[in-house]
Amino acid sequence: MFNKVLIANRGEIALRILRACKELGISTVAVHSTADSEAMHVRLADESVCIGPPPSRDSYLNMHELLAACEITGADAIHPGYGFLSENAKFADVLDAHGITFIGPSAEHIRIMGDKIEAKKTAKELGIPVVPGSEGAVNTIADAKKIAADIGYPVLIKAASGGGGRGMKVAQTENDIGEALQTARSEAGAAFGDDAVYIEKYLAKPRHIEIQVLGDGKGGGIHLGERDCSLQRRHQKVWEEANSPALNEEQREKIGGICARAVQGLGYSGAGTVEFLYENGEFYFIEMNTRLQVEHPVTEMITRIDLVNEQLRIASGSGMSVTQEEIAFTGHAIECRINAEHPVTFAPSPGKIAYYHPPGGLGVRVDSGVYQGYSIPPYYDSLIGKLIVHGRNRVECLMRLRRALDEFVVDGINTTLPLFRELVSNPDMLDGNYDIHWLEHYLADRS
Ligand code: ADP
Repeated sequence: MFNKVLIANRGEIALRILRACKELGISTVAVHSTADSEAMHVRLADESVCIGPPPSRDSYLNMHELLAACEITGADAIHPGYGFLSENAKFADVLDAHGITFIGPSAEHIRIMGDKIEAKKTAKELGIPVVPGSEGAVNTIADAKKIAADIGYPVLIKAASGGGGRGMKVAQTENDIGEALQTARSEAGAAFGDDAVYIEKYLAKPRHIEIQVLGDGKGGGIHLGERDCSLQRRHQKVWEEANSPALNEEQREKIGGICARAVQGLGYSGAGTVEFLYENGEFYFIEMNTRLQVEHPVTEMITRIDLVNEQLRIASGSGMSVTQEEIAFTGHAIECRINAEHPVTFAPSPGKIAYYHPPGGLGVRVDSGVYQGYSIPPYYDSLIGKLIVHGRNRVECLMRLRRALDEFVVDGINTTLPLFRELVSNPDMLDGNYDIHWLEHYLADRS
């Protein structure tokens, strides 16, 4: 096992990783920008290093500073968390060249999955069901029209290097193709420096269902079931749950098995998530994230497996602590992402937390880096914490969630807590009857 791990991240996930390290007796190094010197993960780490000014590109994305921090502290590995450098193949290569372990998959696997066209091709070869569409990049309007006619309208034009839902355009009919291709391409070029686009069948009312996987890098691989992340605003997940209200055990085993075999086939190392759209009983691969996800706790709650502990074990060469047969799914878990945002306008709301009282009790978990008196800096994303609740079944989980949300007090800033208090009593949410567009419609009707 490692002696000392540097955590190249901030906020709740830095704290989450720190906790797993402490339980394994690993020393921790926190890094922080000048805006984060009062952050909880900095206070709780064994050592901390300031790596630069507030903008992420000068601090949390600054590879030179991170390498220097490893050098100064003698850290033997880096956990990148999510976001920032977590899916940066060059960073994995650079660490490798310096003899520092990147806690994540190989640079090669990050690279493959980071290119959506390549990822889709690889997924297909591994036996994963994909969305019908073009084999590779589409260059001309004539080609686009031909492919679209083959797969049937509506179609979606997507950026090969896409992320965060940008560079995506729907074409309802052949008449829309020219403009959709043009716009998607220019948006992709501006946002990602790569204007390659491809075409997929547009699914009208899918759910977003993703499978958590772990690979040992030596051909061993397992799945830990699914998460349903259909509740989204602007392609950002808001509420996640496991198991999915839409799947039965047979479907879970089938798609989980396919993903586990894919991980084995790839020789994948570490934690990953295979994301699907799910419609009319069919799964369609959209991407694979080669890192820990924000919503990983719902999987932890129903499997009782500590995913960060597994990442540390795998990266250090100790292998996974569990086999597929040992994974059992118990009860139901829901996660609410609490953002420092206005609950109606979603305007960011940085500032000082005047009063803070998190909920507790059986089955309630709060992953957060904030505390009373802490000032949320304006420079980073607005996630301030996650409320995760577990119950023996979905009904108990919802009752507990309602109770926990009532208990949760964050004063001094706006948060999205009031939105969740509405959602937890909504009939569609109670029935688990929602697709990826449900929340947008709900919010539009509300205003
Ligand atoms: P990104 O990397 O930009 O997040 P994804 O491929 O993961 O892109 O897609 C993001 C979201 O866009 C999905 O969660 C879904 O809401 C929507 N989406 C993507 N592909 C399709 C499709 N073929 N049909 C309908 N919606 C889609």
